[in-house]
Amino acid sequence: MSVAVFWALFLTFVGAFAAQVATRARVIAAAPNTFSLDDLPFRIRRFLLDVVLQRRTIRERPAAGFMHALVFWGFVAFAGYTSVEFLYGLGIVDLTHMRWFAAYRAGLTPFAIAVLVGILFLLVRRAIVRPVGLGTKVSVESIVIALFITTLMVTFLLTFTLDEHSTVGRVNWWVHMLVILAFMALIPASKHFHLVVSPLTVLLKSPELGNLPNLDFEKEQVGLETVKDLGSKMALDALTCVECGRCQVNCPAWGAGKALNPKTIVLQTQEALLAGARDRKLGEIYSEEVLWQCTTCGACENQCPVGIEHLPILIGSRRGLVSNGDAPDYLGSMYNHLERRSNIWGLGYDQRTKFIQAAQVETFDATRHDVLVWLGCAGSFDADFQKSLRSLFEILRARGVRFGALAKEKCTGDPAKRTGNEYMFQELATANIEDLKTAAPKTIVTSCPHCVKTIGNDYRKFGYTVEIVHSSVYVEELTRSAPASPKPGGSPPGDGRVTFHDPCYLGRYGGKVDEPRALITRFGGVISEPERNRDNPYCCGAGGGLLFADKEEEPGSRISDVRFKQLQATGAGTVVTACPFCSIMLKGAQASAGADTQFVDLMTFVKDRL
Ligand code: SF4
Ligand code: SF4
Repeated sequence: MSVAVFWALFLTFVGAFAAQVATRARVIAAAPNTFSLDDLPFRIRRFLLDVVLQRRTIRERPAAGFMHALVFWGFVAFAGYTSVEFLYGLGIVDLTHMRWFAAYRAGLTPFAIAVLVGILFLLVRRAIVRPVGLGTKVSVESIVIALFITTLMVTFLLTFTLDEHSTVGRVNWWVHMLVILAFMALIPASKHFHLVVSPLTVLLKSPELGNLPNLDFEKEQVGLETVKDLGSKMALDALTCVECGRCQVNCPAWGAGKALNPKTIVLQTQEALLAGARDRKLGEIYSEEVLWQCTTCGACENQCPVGIEHLPILIGSRRGLVSNGDAPDYLGSMYNHLERRSNIWGLGYDQRTKFIQAAQVETFDATRHDVLVWLGCAGSFDADFQKSLRSLFEILRARGVRFGALAKEKCTGDPAKRTGNEYMFQELATANIEDLKTAAPKTIVTSCPHCVKTIGNDYRKFGYTVEIVHSSVYVEELTRSAPASPKPGGSPPGDGRVTFHDPCYLGRYGGKVDEPRALITRFGGVISEPERNRDNPYCCGAGGGLLFADKEEEPGSRISDVRFKQLQATGAGTVVTACPFCSIMLKGAQASAGADTQFVDLMTFVKDRL
């Protein structure tokens, strides 16, 4: 009798679970296939670290992350126990009296206690402490799930004290099993669906942060315009979100009071997909204003513990807008400059020629030169940044490195790519690749982290591979054996303390956080670390084409102002930068604040002390 009742309940709840999972699976299956398993060894390593060991979950929020990990590990440990109890309840086979099962059950006791500790911690955090990233409303569903998990652990522990054949023992068993069934029915329609899909989402996450596959114009691809254009990984991402808000609290746009919230983007995508609104325009769902506020800093997808990629959605939607001529005016003039003059400022290339001639830089020749120095738009035209390049040239000469530059160089196309103008990006990229293939350098050195990412990652998608390193990395290696001999006046002013602003495209995208610091300390600097540093820096606000946005018209604060205050709070009198765009933005913020903080590019910092 009780087996028949259990079967009826099992089929009802599992049926509810399967029906909801099937709805979600259909949404994913209907999307254009964007799943990929390239670089499988990297994916497996990351899976082990981020899923099995819960690295990403623990890293940013150690206490809450560890408690979450306890619950996760407990779930995994209980899988065998739950299966055996289901086999017993369904009358299939009774393994509950096997000796190994008794040992296994006893071994689960510490897990049950750990899960209880973890879930009670998370319950208090969600219901009482309420960090801002979790939203303003207390999630009833989270409370119910927490109470379910608590009940499961308590009923499990009670099995050690209750006679399983007594009425109380039977009631305890039924409560345990009914809670599991109810839990299953509740999961797919809630954020707890991540329990089912997040391992897959992490495995399918691109190995490259901010991965933006090229559009194929021959297949008439124009980017994301409507919901039905969202790819299968984007759909899976949207259905995986656990609403933890890590993307939100790490987003510099949200932090500066703008309308953009990456968590909202993901949840709006989920809502639109489940509503079947396949023809709805993405620009309406997210709002165009929000789409243009992203600096492409990558913090959101780098912080997400369940493998969600925000940038393909954000930049994919920008591509859709640009292809319909809906880019903001400031981008229109930048595109004009890129089209007419192949650089973001629309300046004549005679200025670049004058600069390289004055700096006595030879035209690169692979038979005579060790490295090609890539100037980038800033190095070609920005007088301030040219000082930094001169410093780099001086260091290279002092160390006997033979280098040259291309006679002609176009913008890498980074600002076109990140703002969604894929056509313009591909034009610039193919022209540069042709020149680079002709020049055939083995190694490229550049002081622009955006150029590193674009030439190193985006050009690879055209089949062009070359070693490209940021100057901080190259010079760090070059000067390892060189003891610093500070020149008079070469020390930072004041107490000698400096702070280093990690550029997003160097620290977060490139993972190069130790080399700049090694250089600073090797050459006499004492670093005061700012809040948000290393591989999770706070953006300067320039990326994604926002260097050109009209800052006065922006809602909220300027991202650069927020960052400058964080740097000022270190008390250091000097800010060392390693990206031309960070330097422009932060100097602008310094001027608005009327502060006397000094800025120095890393190459100049080194050159002055070499
Ligand atoms: S890339 Fe940066 S600015 Fe854009 S949504 Fe993500 S965190 Fe925000
Ligand atoms: S997208 Fe990722 S980081 Fe953002 S709320 Fe969802 S699960 Fe958390």
